Order: sequence, then structure tokens, then C-alpha cells
Amino acid sequence: MKIICVGRNYADHAKELKNELPTEPVIFMKPKGAILLPEKPLYYPEFTDDLQYECEVVIKICKNGKFIQEKFANKYYNEVTLGIDFTARDVQREQQKKGLPWEIAKAFDGSAAVGNFVPITVETDIHNLAFQLKLNDTTVQDGHTRNMIFTVDKIITYVSKYFTINIGDLIFTGTPAGVGPVTTGDKLEGYLQGNKVLDVDVK
Ligand code: MG
Repeated sequence: MKIICVGRNYADHAKELKNELPTEPVIFMKPKGAILLPEKPLYYPEFTDDLQYECEVVIKICKNGKFIQEKFANKYYNEVTLGIDFTARDVQREQQKKGLPWEIAKAFDGSAAVGNFVPITVETDIHNLAFQLKLNDTTVQDGHTRNMIFTVDKIITYVSKYFTINIGDLIFTGTPAGVGPVTTGDKLEGYLQGNKVLDVDVK
């Protein structure tokens, strides 16, 4: 399996990091080893002094496909949760300055925290989901999937032009504004449509 991530998919977040709005989805990947399973703590990595959370809606792929048309894209995912795209922001800045890839800043072990998946039913409108991240009981991110620059279905269409998507693949769909640093001892909790689906302690 692979973890496909979208960068700069919310205008308010692109703005806070002083990035331009993308005209095509910004895609990067994390390896399987990046997954931090539900209820597991993240151990603060030694190579960064600026570990940041990015809470994102995560969908799970349920069908193999390539060159998927947008109108059929919704057949390719059937579960949703929240995840944290943990980012070593200082390392990312250094890499960006040098024009180098982001993997060491974004794809390290534990960098893809995933919550408990919720089935997508006929009632679920993936493009109309509210989500929040709490850091030590204070809401720090308050997002809504209707504010995505590229919808989930557009992301699938775009990604599948380049990569075959496979059953079990995860897509991190980008973070809204409010990203920030964590420190040892912090507790992160993610709420999807008001229900808690994600819980990560930083140790
Ligand atoms: Mg992200």
C-alpha cells in the first residue's frame, strides 16, 4: 500500500505558509512505515526542532484503478477518517530552499497518523464534512471539505493519471489553516462531523 498526500489544498492554509495557490494538485507520498496506527503515540523525532501537526481528511481506497474519470471516482473509496500529516517544518523549509524533495521532512516513521475509519454510506457527502483538531483541549484547526481547492474526486482523477491506485491505499487530502508546532506531552484529538476519530499523544 501507499500513502498519497495532497499539499496546499486549502486556500487559507496555503496563505498562512505564504505559498501560491496551486493550479494542479501538489502530490507527494509517504511509505507504509510512516503510518502511526490509532492510539499509538508519536515519539518526537531527534532531527527536528519544529514538528508540526496538519490535520487532514483521509480516505481509504477500495478498488484498484488507473485513469479514473471524475464521475466514477466516488466508487474508489468507501471509508473516511482524519489523519495527521506530521511535518518537520524546519527540515521542510531547508529542503524547499535548496529545491530538494520533502520526504525527510514529511515521510519519516510515524509521520502519517491515522484515526479510526468510518464507513462511507449513501448519506455521506464527502464534499460536505466538518472536522476539527484539538491540541490539549483547544481547537486549533477547524476545517470543512467544501473548502478544498481540489475535491476528493478530482484528486483521484489526477493521481490515477500517474499512479495506479490500489485497494488499501490512503489519501491525505490536505490541511486547512491553523497548523502549528507540538511538543512532548501534547495531546491531539481529531473530530469528524463531531465524532472523535483520532487521538495521538506526542512523547
Ligand atoms: Mg499536509
